[in-house]
Amino acid sequence: MLRVEGRIANHDREFDGAIEIDTDTGLIQSVGPCTGQSDLDLSGYIIFPGFGDIHIHAREDAGGSQTYKEDFTTISAAAIHGGVVQVADMPNNPVAPIDDASYSVKEQLTEKSAVTITLYAGIGPQTRPLNRHVPYKAFMGPSVGDLFFSSKQQLEDVIANYSGRNVSFHCEDPVILEANKHATLHELKRPASAEISATEFALYLIEKYELIGKLCHYSTRDGLPLIAAAKARGVKVTCEATPHHLFFDTTMITPENRQWLQMNPPLRGAEDRVALIAALKSGLVDYVATDHAPHTLDEKMAGASGVPHLDTLGAFATWLMAEHNFSTADIARVFSYNPGRFVREFLPGNLGNGFGSIEPGYVGSLTVLDPKKPYLVTRESVKTKCGWSPFEGYTLPGSVRYTVIRGRVY
Ligand SMILES: [Zn+2]
Repeated sequence: MLRVEGRIANHDREFDGAIEIDTDTGLIQSVGPCTGQSDLDLSGYIIFPGFGDIHIHAREDAGGSQTYKEDFTTISAAAIHGGVVQVADMPNNPVAPIDDASYSVKEQLTEKSAVTITLYAGIGPQTRPLNRHVPYKAFMGPSVGDLFFSSKQQLEDVIANYSGRNVSFHCEDPVILEANKHATLHELKRPASAEISATEFALYLIEKYELIGKLCHYSTRDGLPLIAAAKARGVKVTCEATPHHLFFDTTMITPENRQWLQMNPPLRGAEDRVALIAALKSGLVDYVATDHAPHTLDEKMAGASGVPHLDTLGAFATWLMAEHNFSTADIARVFSYNPGRFVREFLPGNLGNGFGSIEPGYVGSLTVLDPKKPYLVTRESVKTKCGWSPFEGYTLPGSVRYTVIRGRVY
């Protein structure tokens, strides 16, 4: 049994309480009043339900050709360092999980990880739904990997087979990307219009084929009203935002950091960033999800798109609290509760009610933040195998004090 007491922040209330976690089952056994008896001194800290990150790229597959930059062991270390207890891994591997057999092979590789890993299955031009119940990811246009479509009709023809399934979309219209491929700067090659056009099409597919839809790493202000309107008319769609689109914008790009800050979709203008923060706070954007994309420093110098974030996610949450007045309930909603709801139906049966709330029957995994101890991000401090962070040199206002995984304290 692990017993901890302190200030507890769920998505619907904040209170002083004691949590008892059964270390055999890994589940929360009780939540009750404080008695002064605790296995850890958590005074001054905030205890959140363990954070979930439902969009990462851990790079490990059956072929192992990309494990020089990350694998399911190092991703777990980076996640725990950042206060993250469960992640969902994207399928754009060289050996992609696209059917029952390839999905099971990849799933076995995740067993060495301390954090719980849910796998997306890929949707590509030749794929069909799995027999198992899993979440899917569709890449509309070329990004990183081979799973993408060259036309909207080709995508719709395939999506028609996935009616009723849980499908996440990377929204960049391949036709607009193609038309802008000779532009001078990365953000001009992949303009906001590509995301907006793809959003319209993704919402059309989600509605027509009654998908449980999700829009990944959302970045443009002008697309947000489309999502709001779809939600208002009952379309089952949710939406992610990344730390980089919430923290950085194109006014912060310099010749020195330009290559580090390259990702797909690219950074947008300051007005987009401000709108995204407001949408996250209001609930229009449902999750902070990192799109953790570990590339080596050499690969970044050679133009690879994507940035790593797992190590810094807990500290990033304290930045939203300190700089943008996010309440502890807001933080619990977008980092814990909503990500927990997303993965719940895909989890193995021994994880009780799953992740996202500090209540009996939920997984006994916690993220304990110290909102007052700053974290100066350095290359040496991160656990991701790729060994760098886009936040290097920045001081985030708070830090992760403990990560608890199913009753075990890290
Ligand atoms: Zn991604």
